[in-house]
Amino acid sequence: MKEILILGSSGSIGVNTLNVIRNFPERFRVKTLTVNSNINILEEQIKEFHPDLVVVRNKHSADTLRTRLNGKCEVLSGDEGLTEAARRDNYDIMVSALVGFAGLAPTVESIKLSKRIALANKETLVAAGELITNLCKEYKAELLPVDSEHSAIFQCLAGENPAEVDKLILTASGGPFLHRRKETLREVTVAEALNHPNWKMGSKITIDSASMMNKGLEVIEARWLFGVSKDKIVVVVHPQSIVHSMVEFVDGSIKAQLGLPDMKLPIQYALAYPERLKTTGQRTEMPKIRDLSFFEPDMEKFECLKLAYDVIEEGGTAPCILNAANEVAVSKFLDGKIKFHQIPEIIKCSLDNIENHRVPGIDIIFECDRQTRAFAAKLFS
Ligand code: MG
Repeated sequence: MKEILILGSSGSIGVNTLNVIRNFPERFRVKTLTVNSNINILEEQIKEFHPDLVVVRNKHSADTLRTRLNGKCEVLSGDEGLTEAARRDNYDIMVSALVGFAGLAPTVESIKLSKRIALANKETLVAAGELITNLCKEYKAELLPVDSEHSAIFQCLAGENPAEVDKLILTASGGPFLHRRKETLREVTVAEALNHPNWKMGSKITIDSASMMNKGLEVIEARWLFGVSKDKIVVVVHPQSIVHSMVEFVDGSIKAQLGLPDMKLPIQYALAYPERLKTTGQRTEMPKIRDLSFFEPDMEKFECLKLAYDVIEEGGTAPCILNAANEVAVSKFLDGKIKFHQIPEIIKCSLDNIENHRVPGIDIIFECDRQTRAFAAKLFS
């Protein structure tokens, strides 16, 4: 029996993790759940899964929940509550599924306890990839990908010699604006950007998919997860989202992992690894798929993807600046304060103006994130 801590249990990864746990009650048990402020969903989850501890980041919502639960379950609050939950040595696997930079601090605590971390929070590796991977080595923590592309690569690499890998090929759906001309991207609405063709996800990642920043963040994530240089990571657009990613080896052979767009599979793989658990449910029927197409991404139209490759080259805190500026820009776009094409402009301007620290420690990363957010918040307003 594995005890599970889910950071971000009301989001799409959190809910899907609970779906997996529901299917395998003899294998997994919920120990801790955390949410930002959605205590109604959390209350339902507490009734069904009986965690020992919950954390509500918003303190006011935490107080309301405490009153409602009347001592039935321990409730912590705030960022310090998240850190404390991660620091308690009462679980086996952390599912790190917070949105954005907020996932970094609790993930570091879990690494220090040498836990298995099923990582869905890509911003952690984007902002602090070198630091996190070094800490994982030092504390012998296991960092397993939950992102569907990285899970695919991880599955393709099983049993292979890392020295024989020639390329990692990340697939991208291309998002809702794949077939729009660059000039018309100036006028897209929030509703259009939120209308992803294949995946149902939270709003931050859906906007990132529309700008292809999501793929950019995934390139950076892959660089750290698999320890390869950026020239060995290739993005191909694959609108059907059936091939989740591929690995090309030095002899030219390519392995791919295929499946329906459903996050339960990569989550389950990370929780049960190295085992595969038998599921019933919908399967990929190849004759029904018929067409699988692949083509190169347009880096001029999707500037965010190009910016992500650029910051890997720059190194230091440049990826942290890119991530923080993007988070601010996306939330401004969702609030109707900026246009879609201004997202990469905010990122470029932040990269040009904020100092890059070459070998950042954790404090410098937090400071860089704070400084970038304050700077980016002032742009276009
Ligand atoms: Mg992904």
